[in-house]
Amino acid sequence: MTADPFIRLVAPDLGEAELREVEQVFASGHLTQGPKVEAFEAAVASRVEAAHGIATTSATTALHLAVAALEIGPGDEVIVPDFTFPATANVVVQQGARPVLVDVDPATFTVTLANVAGMVTEKTRAIIPVHAFGLAADVDPIVAFAREKGLTVIEDAACAIGTTYHGRPVGAIGDLGCFSFHPRKAITTGEGGMVTTDNQALADRLRLLRNHGGLRAAGRFTFEAAGFNYRMSDILAAIGLAQMRRLDAMIAEKRRLVDGYRSALAGLAGATLPIEPIWGGHVYQSFVIMLDDAIDRDLVISRMRAREIETTLGTYALHAEPFFRRTYGYRVGDLPGSWAAYRHSLTLPLYPGLGDGGVARVAGALRDVLAQA
Ligand SMILES: *Cc1c(COP(=O)(O)O)cnc(C)c1O
Repeated sequence: MTADPFIRLVAPDLGEAELREVEQVFASGHLTQGPKVEAFEAAVASRVEAAHGIATTSATTALHLAVAALEIGPGDEVIVPDFTFPATANVVVQQGARPVLVDVDPATFTVTLANVAGMVTEKTRAIIPVHAFGLAADVDPIVAFAREKGLTVIEDAACAIGTTYHGRPVGAIGDLGCFSFHPRKAITTGEGGMVTTDNQALADRLRLLRNHGGLRAAGRFTFEAAGFNYRMSDILAAIGLAQMRRLDAMIAEKRRLVDGYRSALAGLAGATLPIEPIWGGHVYQSFVIMLDDAIDRDLVISRMRAREIETTLGTYALHAEPFFRRTYGYRVGDLPGSWAAYRHSLTLPLYPGLGDGGVARVAGALRDVLAQA
């Protein structure tokens, strides 16, 4: 009898198409930002229905570039959902501004206008709704509110390439969208990111700051700002181009596997499966379920691991992390929806190569583990 192979949370789906694209870059000898980056930007911008795409080294640097381009700085506040990867708030801190953490709806893991509206002050400059795990936040009311108050909306779409909201792609619903191409996301370049926007002036500013603040005119640079080097390499953009061509197929296969999870886990006591709200468009960057309060989630993770299956928490409740507690005086549990999501969420393996057999094994193991918990 052979042991079951270990099932990882995600496995990148890379193959011949990506290799052939990278070979072209090797042959061209042009390794830094060049024609492949331009083509990748065009592919993502067109998919997102945005006028401009500005490729970066990660979603973190995309978010930082966005906040920097808006000249957000000391004395400013930015509204950030508490239940997110720390990068969403860290970039605000790095600009010398204050991230104001707001609660989320644990049923969707996303922020609503109700969470945001009461937290706006005269110092607020921007709102960063997060499209969590591939599901859009309910952004239309947030954007309408922001317009009324003169605030900018930066969509943290790190998990959301391909995600739609009432049928429209996310990333150009607000003023700026920030995407990730880390291997845990829907498509990958190894590391990588992009800012999308319809705003020409912001796009120019983002491109300037991405490249050291340098402006090229008449064959030479003048330096107009203390910018960054957040440029993507053509090697990575080539991988992204091939991945973009397969995005729809990968999303479709993941959605099919999610249907499998839904049938296999139907009626399971102790677990609540993710919902699709009326705006739909979930691409399941991650399949994240909630366990009942009485269940020790971390024990479930270790018992799943004993069955050769990797699972993990959903994401972090920032207010409860040491930096945010120390710096802003939050106490653990201050934002109860986010805190519940942090403590009780469980991410199950999901990637195009998982297969029906993988789904059956994970679901069977989870049923056994929860029966014991
Ligand atoms: C992954 C993630 C990021 C950071 O993405 P990187 O490309 O790894 O920098 C930011 N925000 C959210 C919501 C994420 O899930």
